[in-house]
Amino acid sequence: MNKVILVRYAEIHLKGNNKHFFEKLLLNNIKNVLSDLECSVEFKHTRYIISNFRESETKIITSRLMTVFGIYSYSIADEIDTSIENVENYFKDFTLENTSFRVSVNRADKTFPINSTDFSKIIGEIILENNPNKNLSVDLHTYKNEISIDIRETGKTYIFSSIEKGLGGMPVGSAGKGLLLLSGGIDSPVAGFKISQRGMIVDGLHFHSFPYTSENAKNKVIKLAKLIKPYTHLNRLFVVSFTKIQEEIHKHCDGDYMITLMRRIMMRIAERICNKYDYKAIITGESLGQVASQTVESITISNSVLNTIPALRPLIAFDKDETISISEKINTYETSILPYEDCCTVFLPKNPIIKPKMERVLREESKLDLDTLINDAISTVEIIEI
Ligand code: ATP
Ligand code: MG
Repeated sequence: MNKVILVRYAEIHLKGNNKHFFEKLLLNNIKNVLSDLECSVEFKHTRYIISNFRESETKIITSRLMTVFGIYSYSIADEIDTSIENVENYFKDFTLENTSFRVSVNRADKTFPINSTDFSKIIGEIILENNPNKNLSVDLHTYKNEISIDIRETGKTYIFSSIEKGLGGMPVGSAGKGLLLLSGGIDSPVAGFKISQRGMIVDGLHFHSFPYTSENAKNKVIKLAKLIKPYTHLNRLFVVSFTKIQEEIHKHCDGDYMITLMRRIMMRIAERICNKYDYKAIITGESLGQVASQTVESITISNSVLNTIPALRPLIAFDKDETISISEKINTYETSILPYEDCCTVFLPKNPIIKPKMERVLREESKLDLDTLINDAISTVEIIEI
């Protein structure tokens, strides 16, 4: 008998001919998170089997699995060679007390001679017989314990008593690479997490306004980038100075349009970096109606500067409390709420425009030497390896 971890994949089963690509990618992603631990990982007929690990490292392995997108669920299981006799013998030593239970058999191996309903009954009876006077009852609907027997096509049978849910989604790397606009706030790290859940690798782009924003603010963003790295495979953080741009807008343009103008310039710079470094999308943490710059009118105005790259907003329909609960789960929340100023809060206007008008935006932008400002900002780019 071997102790193994049985891993099931999420949406990959919906894929057609290219299923193997996703299965292999997920195999590699699982191997990568476990690469420093003693274990083997194999893919066998829709399941990943992790074996030959130290039992004392089981928890470390399962906690790493909880960072891998594409995993639907996993179970710590006993693996035996498939035969009626072997399974029955296994349950002769199986102890259970003071509970209600049911046995569930999954007969993926159709050559196994007893059907799943009958085999569940047989094993249920064996458990009852071998645990007399232990206050046990079989309850198919409101059971406290489910004992699962998964008879695979591989000649192996897996027996387990719990199924833990994974992160779901698609394996990271299956949906290309994007550039995440990463501020120091709560939303953008969660946006990176969510887009990676759909298979996209992200790197980060942060705008800082030194000396109006501090070194601490930048370090906070580096920390957030590190915290989301296990999920997003983020390797690089581009840091661009926004100081001159903010000063120029502040000096020449209508204050109410400040944020709108900043957003459009951020998008233009992001698109340039995407084209240069081959990112296929810009990702932001915007959510509809959250602030003035996130109304549908404001989003239209900022999207309209993009010619070649889409802006993806995975949190567009999220309530703040949903975003916060993910940020707590992925452990970014405590860092996000550290009180260092963001470049967007420097020179914050009293009444940022909620429904900006395109004509007006263009008029305000004509007061700036946009090309020079953008080129100069891009020339300051610092690339930090995370
Ligand atoms: P967050 O919590 O992510 O900071 P927010 O609710 O504070 O978001 P805004 O400040 O309006 O909202 O920013 C909206 C989005 O614009 C952010 O989610 C982020 O993607 C991007 N963004 C804002 N400020 C910066 C910055 N300094 N550098 C990079 N991206 C930024
Ligand atoms: Mg912010």
